Amino acid sequence: MNHHKLVVGNWKMNPGSVAEAKKLVSRIKKASAKLSNTEVVICPPLPFIVPCTRRRKPVGMFMGAQTVSWETESGPHTGEVSVMMLRDLGVEYIIVGHSEQRKRGDTDETVSRRLKAILESGLTPILCIGEALRDESGAYLESLKNQIKASCANVSHKDAKRIVIAYEPIWAIGAAEAMKAEDVYETSLFVKKVFSDLFGADAGLKVKVLYGGSVTFRNAHDIMAIGKVDGLLVGRESVNAPGFIELIKVVDDVK
Ligand code: PEP
Repeated sequence: MNHHKLVVGNWKMNPGSVAEAKKLVSRIKKASAKLSNTEVVICPPLPFIVPCTRRRKPVGMFMGAQTVSWETESGPHTGEVSVMMLRDLGVEYIIVGHSEQRKRGDTDETVSRRLKAILESGLTPILCIGEALRDESGAYLESLKNQIKASCANVSHKDAKRIVIAYEPIWAIGAAEAMKAEDVYETSLFVKKVFSDLFGADAGLKVKVLYGGSVTFRNAHDIMAIGKVDGLLVGRESVNAPGFIELIKVVDDVK
């Protein structure tokens, strides 16, 4: 499974109705079943997870969630949803630390608690990291390193291999253009190096690094081929069925 490329669709707070969500998922499901080297994860809004889940497990398509509580025991936590509840619904991946969640109050500390809950449940976390600004002096590299270190505090060497890192420069999310593919390559290598310094060479080799930020079917090839990432985290294009279907085919064809 680790050799597969991974495309994660973060639907954010879209689409507007269950009917639209079902239509979207059924088109993605059909297209995902035809891929040979790529796994697709869709992360719909919470109320759409059940309507988007089929009784028969789809081929090549997995269910994901956009966030989760760090609380693991049922109890007085109004508005929260636990990893066990998501697992019960068939969710296998959970995004954690997305910049839009960090903007609303998530910190490295709360991200690390969510990450721990996900790892303990056996599900796969997709840990989002990314710099707000890319300065000439390279201070952003230090900030990325600190973000990884703090978000992964309390993660064991063994569990570290199960984390998927989504490198998403904040300035490239929801932007007109993605980061240059050459820069994606440089930064993904840096992330792997930090991971190997923290958790050993094996973890550095095994960790999957995705790129996210204004990916479309048009730029997906270069980001994969030149950026040499293990996959993509896709926002807007993931709720545009024709664009997303083309994108997953493009990724699947990258040698
Ligand atoms: C995201 O929010 O994770 C993202 C990558 O968004 P977009 O693709 O729309 O930039």
